[in-house]
Amino acid sequence: MIDDEGMSSALQLNENPASVAVLTETALALYQKPFFDLLYEAHTVHRAHHEPEDIQRCVLLSIKTGGCPEDCGYCSQSGHHKTGLERQPLLSLDDVRHAATQAKESGAERFCMGAAWRQAPEGEQFERVLEMVRIVKSLGMEACTTLGMLTLDQARQLKEAGLDAYNHNVDTSREHYPKIVTTRTYDDRLQTLHAAREAGLTVCSGGILGMGESERDRCAMLAELATLNPQPESVPINMLMPIAGTPLAQAPEVSVPDLVRTIAVARILMPKSRVRLSAGRVHLSREAQLLALFAGANSVFIGEKLLTTPNAGQSADDALFATLSGGARQGCSASAGD
Ligand code: SF4
Repeated sequence: MIDDEGMSSALQLNENPASVAVLTETALALYQKPFFDLLYEAHTVHRAHHEPEDIQRCVLLSIKTGGCPEDCGYCSQSGHHKTGLERQPLLSLDDVRHAATQAKESGAERFCMGAAWRQAPEGEQFERVLEMVRIVKSLGMEACTTLGMLTLDQARQLKEAGLDAYNHNVDTSREHYPKIVTTRTYDDRLQTLHAAREAGLTVCSGGILGMGESERDRCAMLAELATLNPQPESVPINMLMPIAGTPLAQAPEVSVPDLVRTIAVARILMPKSRVRLSAGRVHLSREAQLLALFAGANSVFIGEKLLTTPNAGQSADDALFATLSGGARQGCSASAGD
């Protein structure tokens, strides 16, 4: 919980549930449009606010792995689930410098660091995270962290260290959330987002598809994010990566059209945000990813891993970006006079 003085008066939680409810209906009407009508509308909004070729590449590094006291039903790192994940204490500064340098060399513009904590700790570990942020900034990348719940004072220290963004996902709709997480509330999550905003950080918040939610839940989650004022600058849309040993290990897969519809609605409701095609990309064909990018996603995570789960490999990403960039391609050898 955020306990800094003055925070409660500064909170602007979604105190107007009516606006979330109204926007949920709008989102659902969009979600259920004929597929090409929705794609056309989303792509039109996208082009009005973004350069279509601007796809930001990010790297996400787990800086402290496993042993988390939260019980998020999708997560390999929760201490409540027997996933066999090897725990790893907070990385050294050298490890982070090395990983961030490699990320920069591979074309990443943003470097995100995730730690499996319920609440960002105080003391030496937090000081080390601040130094990690300084290292990433010294390499000329945007820096983002996701460290669990955050006090306003911690958010301010991160901002002073140069942090650009704080990630804390709402995960799903307010209604569906208690079926996924019981150890913290939806409003706890919103309070952390407000602490980040209050400190001058940009906000990264999104959710996960494929956790047994309905179409309405997906739309309610997007409405919840879209009614934040200001809207999150960054909205990761993840597909569940089912992990053996977690309660959601057997959850059915999300279809590509459902993923694309969610991204399209996110783009229309949050026209200026960077919508990130995040976890689960490894299971998508190049064509499915192109569809998601056309619908309004304009960021992907590169690198072999996303925290603890596999990610699309470099050769697949090279092919994806080559397709996006156009120009001459193998097999297109016909010329005038042939
Ligand atoms: S708080 Fe984060 S690391 Fe901990 S169980 Fe939930 S998703 Fe996993």
